[in-house]
Amino acid sequence: MTEELILNEIEANTEEYIEFLRELIQTDSYNPPGNEKNIAIKIEKYLKNIGIDCEIFPFGENRANLIAYLINDSNGKNLLYNGHMDVVPPGNEEEWSTPPLSAKIRGGKARRKMFGRGTVDMKSGLAAMTIALKILKKLNLIKSGNLILNAVADEEVGGEVGTLWSLDNVLKSKKINFALIGEPTGLDPLSKAIIIGEKGRVAIRIITNGISGHASVPILGKNAIYMMSEIIQNLDRIDKFFPKIEPPLPLEKIKELISVVFPSKAVFEKILSEQQILQNIINANSQFTKNLTMIKGGIKSNVVPDHCEAVIDFRILPGQTVEMVLNSLKKLINELGFEVKDEPIGLPKEIFVYLDVEYAGEASFFSGWEHSKSLNDFYTIVEKFYDKKPFYFLYPASSDAKFYRNKNFCQSTILFGPGNAQLAHTTNENIEINDFINAIKVYTLFAYNFLKD
Ligand SMILES: [Zn+2]
Repeated sequence: MTEELILNEIEANTEEYIEFLRELIQTDSYNPPGNEKNIAIKIEKYLKNIGIDCEIFPFGENRANLIAYLINDSNGKNLLYNGHMDVVPPGNEEEWSTPPLSAKIRGGKARRKMFGRGTVDMKSGLAAMTIALKILKKLNLIKSGNLILNAVADEEVGGEVGTLWSLDNVLKSKKINFALIGEPTGLDPLSKAIIIGEKGRVAIRIITNGISGHASVPILGKNAIYMMSEIIQNLDRIDKFFPKIEPPLPLEKIKELISVVFPSKAVFEKILSEQQILQNIINANSQFTKNLTMIKGGIKSNVVPDHCEAVIDFRILPGQTVEMVLNSLKKLINELGFEVKDEPIGLPKEIFVYLDVEYAGEASFFSGWEHSKSLNDFYTIVEKFYDKKPFYFLYPASSDAKFYRNKNFCQSTILFGPGNAQLAHTTNENIEINDFINAIKVYTLFAYNFLKD
């Protein structure tokens, strides 16, 4: 009965919801520089109309985080919805078929799409969460417990002053029973993924320090580029120093989880053997990866270089740590005969390597996910509104979920949201309106089910 009431409410107000999404897309929140306060003000206005007061926490130049509560009650269960307000810059606007802030809608009624920066990542998810709050308030369905909306800044450049700030300064004292981040999780041509964990990212700058000299008698110097070259060529040997851990989702388990999307296991195996992209995504999600992404060295064509720098981007699985990467890399470099120093400066003519951790984002995982009733309920609701069965999966990139899962705040954090994830950050980013409306249904019904008793 109540479910019908909610769905009728959504049916009756679809155009108004699309209008709210359009307004968010048309509002500039490119990061850098951010300007998230522009979006926070729109959300505040939208929710104020229904009687929900938002707390806006401004910082910097026109930036802000926002927190809103469905009701003024601190008893009962708490459900947290998180969405980021910033979007990546549009790149070359000339390449867009419609301007990135236009929010233009194209296509026939059944398959209407909205175009613009942030339609996928992730203003549709953010709008749908805000709308869910509005619907539950309007219909006055929740008597205790709370749905909390945290609209955050900064996700696209790390999240320290967005989700992490909100957690440390406002939300930490609350007991959150379940959290959902509305990032796009559509994986065309597969179905919607429900993300239960993510890989971590560690970027390490390797600096080799040799001895400079005249290139006519190279033996008198020590070539830092050759040193680097030796390290890079042997990089795969790091695996033998890396502690073996059992990944929370081994390869076979990941395959099993995806196979539910296909009519049978045999069909899945056949498609998997034909589709290299699918194999690559599955493989990247089940193992530690490394990639040399930047390198520079040398100052002149006739000077033996005494300095070379390279950055390696490591992606680690839940259970693997930044320290493990650093220690294994040190052991490898030692084995190659180089000393790894603790500081970047040495004595004159000293030959050494220095390692600088440029970025360290831990992996995270919703342990116990298989036994979570709430997650199971969530799956059932998603299955109801989308044509294809959803599947549980890991995120190969990193999101704000790591702050919730790893800071002992809320293990039970998932990612689920409208939009095809492959279109995030691309030119002509666009979302199917039906997908956006389905997300409103999922977010509202799940919150209702979660909080009703
Ligand atoms: Zn995002």
